[in-house]
Amino acid sequence: MIDLKALAHSCGFYTAADMDPKTLKFMSDVRSMCAADRCRSYGKSWSCPPACGELEYWEEKASHYSKGLILQTVGDREDSYDFEAMMEVSEENKRQFLAFTDALKKEGLDFLAMSAGACTICPQCTYPDAPCRFPEKLYPSMEACGLFVSGVCKDNGVPYYYGEEKIAYTCCLLYN
Ligand code: SF4
Repeated sequence: MIDLKALAHSCGFYTAADMDPKTLKFMSDVRSMCAADRCRSYGKSWSCPPACGELEYWEEKASHYSKGLILQTVGDREDSYDFEAMMEVSEENKRQFLAFTDALKKEGLDFLAMSAGACTICPQCTYPDAPCRFPEKLYPSMEACGLFVSGVCKDNGVPYYYGEEKIAYTCCLLYN
């Protein structure tokens, strides 16, 4: 078995911490937050609700795995209005996540990974007019799957908030 934490750090993740899959709660309240569409991705991407699948689908998929990791990209920002810095850290998180999941596939690992935020691989998502262009790179976010991310972090002893001058993007991995 490869050292997943070392691999995660080599891909650039700041945090690679154990997560107990039994702590995951797939909640309709989180879906309601998606439906409020504050991130303006609801109903606009294959990676987001309602296209990404029902909560029960994700809960059932997750039930096949006994181990997990919380992965975080943490970067600097001037304050909570520094959207430029937050976008840069988000893009870095997406690069790290895809490098990590590509490496896991090369290793032949059976896994389930959930990302942070809507998929941004294509400048314009094909949803709903045509199939996803890159289904092998499509990983719905933890929120899209119904997970309350700060709660998952808390339940596993991992920080979620790093202070006003830092921003963290959180993903997770499930495996056996
Ligand atoms: S890969 Fe492209 S088509 Fe597929 S979900 Fe992402 S943006 Fe949409």
